[in-house]
Amino acid sequence: MRLLCFLVLMIFSASAPGGAQDIPIFKLTNPAAVKLLDEVSQSYKRRTIAIDTPLPSNIHAAASIAEDGTPIIKVPIDRDPTEADLVHELFHLKLIAEGYAFIKIDSDAQIPKVMETRLFEWVKDPIEHTIFYPRMRAMGLNPSEHVEATISNAAARFAIEPGEPSEMSVLSLFSLRVALQENPELFEQFVKGKAAGNDLAVSGQALEILVRDRPQTPDEEISTLVKVLNCLLPSIGTFSFGHLEAVKKGTVTVRTAVIRVDAPSGVRACPAY
Ligand SMILES: [Zn+2]
Repeated sequence: MRLLCFLVLMIFSASAPGGAQDIPIFKLTNPAAVKLLDEVSQSYKRRTIAIDTPLPSNIHAAASIAEDGTPIIKVPIDRDPTEADLVHELFHLKLIAEGYAFIKIDSDAQIPKVMETRLFEWVKDPIEHTIFYPRMRAMGLNPSEHVEATISNAAARFAIEPGEPSEMSVLSLFSLRVALQENPELFEQFVKGKAAGNDLAVSGQALEILVRDRPQTPDEEISTLVKVLNCLLPSIGTFSFGHLEAVKKGTVTVRTAVIRVDAPSGVRACPAY
């Protein structure tokens, strides 16, 4: 990932000199969060750093890895991340070090860039969240705090941006279902009158695949991702795992799973469709 020259706010590591006084600035008051930060720094053999970055309003923090293998949490320049935001990104960094892959699309047909971004944001990332959200809850943190706050606003809509392919709306529903997995009543209440019945049914079927699979390893995550995509997006193509690409950054190997997209089969591969 590209590292721009942003202002480095501070270097923090629980084991670094001065680490104790770093914690209040990053709001890592939770002992399990402090331990996680230390684990991440140890797995990269580098201090984890936070970088002040302009981020869109719906992004509360982002994980990145510098070319030298330094684990980075990008934090918004204009807002303070919550402890849950920081822990969320620390878990992503931990999983990347354990071999969980980024994804890239390989297709002979033209797949719009916006779709590739949405596949990551609304399908791959939510699937990965199911691996660590239970641990966040066990730490006493609410991983869905932003989603719950957003949709509790009566004027909120959960829709695709103008100009995005219409198939994307089912992806946003899938993402919302996963985020509100512990609170399905809130999901139903919010989508009432806002989402097409077929999209609701399909997103529910895709969630069922995820719940049944419960991926817990890098390979299982990609296998579940491919199944979920073949349920959600049969009109776009037939998805399959292509190959893994690996790049060494510092002491860590960063993997990218290449997802092959071939001609649509016309069959929606959902459990009960
Ligand atoms: Zn995430």
